[in-house]
Amino acid sequence: MDSLLREESKLNLRNFLVYFLFIASCGCTNLQTNPVASITQTAILQDVSWLASDEMQGRHYRSIEARKAAKYIADKWKLAGLTPLPSKTSMYIPTDDPRDSPNVAAMYQGSGDTYVLLTAHYDHLKPRKTGTDRIYNGADDNASGTAALLAIAGALSKTQTPLESSIVLVAFTGEEAGLVGSEHFANNAPIPLHAIRGLINLDMISRGEPNTIFLEGAPDAPRINMAIVRANKEVGLNIIRNKHTDWLYRSDQAPFLEKNVPCIFLSVEDHEDYHRVTDHTEKILPELAAKTAQLVFLTAIDLAHPVP
Ligand SMILES: [Zn+2]
Repeated sequence: MDSLLREESKLNLRNFLVYFLFIASCGCTNLQTNPVASITQTAILQDVSWLASDEMQGRHYRSIEARKAAKYIADKWKLAGLTPLPSKTSMYIPTDDPRDSPNVAAMYQGSGDTYVLLTAHYDHLKPRKTGTDRIYNGADDNASGTAALLAIAGALSKTQTPLESSIVLVAFTGEEAGLVGSEHFANNAPIPLHAIRGLINLDMISRGEPNTIFLEGAPDAPRINMAIVRANKEVGLNIIRNKHTDWLYRSDQAPFLEKNVPCIFLSVEDHEDYHRVTDHTEKILPELAAKTAQLVFLTAIDLAHPVP
């Protein structure tokens, strides 16, 4: 080795050390090796801010803005390497009415023919006719659940472990109009409903008591509930179970429950801004939404049976 090469190799070693120290000091190694750590409150807040901005006009399911939201979701899922469902060429799954914005569905492919579904509605309400603030921003309802699905997609893109079940993400349209999107999906299921190991629906996950989330459906979905218990050892949320069993029939899990798919519903307590124009981004608890998304991600991996 001549002296020039020796100098070069010293330089390379120094560069490597500088790089290593930089990575270690900013915690990037953790982000690269631990997908859960990539689900951050910053990411949640960024997506909620966009989805619940005044420009999005409340994302009514028959508006241009709802279609923009659908594209925002599909683009992020594509970026995360997710693919359309089997037999589909697009992530957009239209309902039977061309006026409706579409459901958006994508998956992280497993090796088998079973599925774990993670769902949230992305639509909200059309602007009211009068008042200084006319826009129903729907930050908690349900930009928060939608942002969780976006963050989970990012974590899936960093997952190295092969899974047995495919993990399917679905952003439903028309929930506020009477479960329009989820009814259509359940009645025209692009995947066999009997092959769904479990469904977890998120609707309003960022208000109320810090660190507290309500869970409905555990008695009829014990396997999902046990996976949530295991996941929560890492996340540490305060989970309140079976306090509002009637909620099971007022969000998108309902059409699937009717078809005997095991379902869990995660939500926060009703609050003063529920279905009011004051459901604003600055009132959400992004940390609660991020921790709920981490819980759901870890639970989905557990249910999907990682292949050792
Ligand atoms: Zn909702």
